[in-house]
Amino acid sequence: EAFNANIAAAKALNAFLVETPEHALAAARAADAARAAGEELKPLAGVSIGMKDLFCTAGVATTAASHILEGFTPTYESTVSQNLWDAGAGMLGKLNMDQFAMGSSNETSAFGNVISPWRRKDGGNAPLAPGGSSGGSSAAVAARLCPGATGTDTGGSIRQPAAFTGISGIKPTYGRCSRWGTIAFASSLDQAGPMARDVRDCAIMLEAMAGFDAKDSTSLKLDVPRWEAGLSPSMAGKRVGIPKEYRVDGMPAEIEALWQRGIAWLKDAGAEIVDVSLPHTKYALPAYYIIAPAEASSNLARYDGVRYGLRDLPQGAGLQDMYAATRADGFGSEVKRRIMIGTYVLSAGFYDAYYTQAQKVRTLIARDFQAAFETCDVLLTPTAPSAAFALGEKSADPIAMYLNDVFTVPSSLAGLPAMSVPGGLDEAGLPLGLQIIGKPLDEQGVLNAGLAIE
Ligand code: GLN
Repeated sequence: EAFNANIAAAKALNAFLVETPEHALAAARAADAARAAGEELKPLAGVSIGMKDLFCTAGVATTAASHILEGFTPTYESTVSQNLWDAGAGMLGKLNMDQFAMGSSNETSAFGNVISPWRRKDGGNAPLAPGGSSGGSSAAVAARLCPGATGTDTGGSIRQPAAFTGISGIKPTYGRCSRWGTIAFASSLDQAGPMARDVRDCAIMLEAMAGFDAKDSTSLKLDVPRWEAGLSPSMAGKRVGIPKEYRVDGMPAEIEALWQRGIAWLKDAGAEIVDVSLPHTKYALPAYYIIAPAEASSNLARYDGVRYGLRDLPQGAGLQDMYAATRADGFGSEVKRRIMIGTYVLSAGFYDAYYTQAQKVRTLIARDFQAAFETCDVLLTPTAPSAAFALGEKSADPIAMYLNDVFTVPSSLAGLPAMSVPGGLDEAGLPLGLQIIGKPLDEQGVLNAGLAIE
């Protein structure tokens, strides 16, 4: 009830697309009943969470913040959301996001941007971006509208919004969380993960969300480790790698200072700091912005006006006209840009020059990480090259927007677990995030380093 009241009082943030107070209350009542009956409580008994609107929820409208899915009510539940309900959690509502998870500021939503609950203290009172694409999730957790929320991360969409709003978020190893029932953006990169107030809450939520699922062919057939029980803030005997290529040109002094703070904290916790090199880092962003649109153009071919949501069928129109009218009306401009880039790089004449080349680069990037992890246990970097920017500041310039993902996409391309934790405030009083990248399947190492920083 307290969270429902907070949500009602914070409508101006535009964090929720759909509110489902009864779902959350039912879980809370079930937890109360179990407690009264002396039963053992489930790990998330009665905990109210927010669901990013990329997860299909049975009987609850799901749009991925796109007009093309308006009117779509899934008849099935995503594996990740079902896992959360099975662990006792309830849903406060569906959270706003960048349309189809394409964006870094939440401004590509068809239902209005989300506003960060943070403000600069230096008088610049312009509303700030909550980050993206999981911007409804980050704003809702930061504004205390829910204690935790789900996010998805294809190239940084959990970590960058967490950094912008002073919360924690982890993208697990690719394959830890089932993608079944999660609306696809770029299938070889998409991973679900939790966004919460601290590292422990992330560990608890991730334990519930993860697990093998026969319905996702890329799901890992592994037991879910007991990450919460394994939490330890000691870094004694651990080596933390500092990749020199992340010191990019024009990096603001406050980001450099953030990085140095993080290094000092991990040293204090007992870690040894080592310099490492990831030589292909500069090719990660261009490779990502070929591979992700390529997969998106294929995944989004299913929105044709026949099967889901919106249908534009002009009088006397034929099938092709219906496809064209529906897609022209239904998709936002960033989504259209990605579909055009994707179909271009996959077209017969350009496939080898762009798509094949990007896949080769992806392999080189994965090998860079493999080599680096021979000399260290985790990597520490800033999460984003700046603090939250003002809404509107980058929305007219796609390249400026894409550059925001420079530190998050390499680990996505390599499928590695990576987390953002708060690393203090900048001079304007805005939160900055530190990123920890781990070896494949070493979420525990990532969480522990996060705990040491926290
Ligand atoms: N900002 C990146 C993009 O626009 C990442 C998005 C994501 O991780 N879903 O593609």
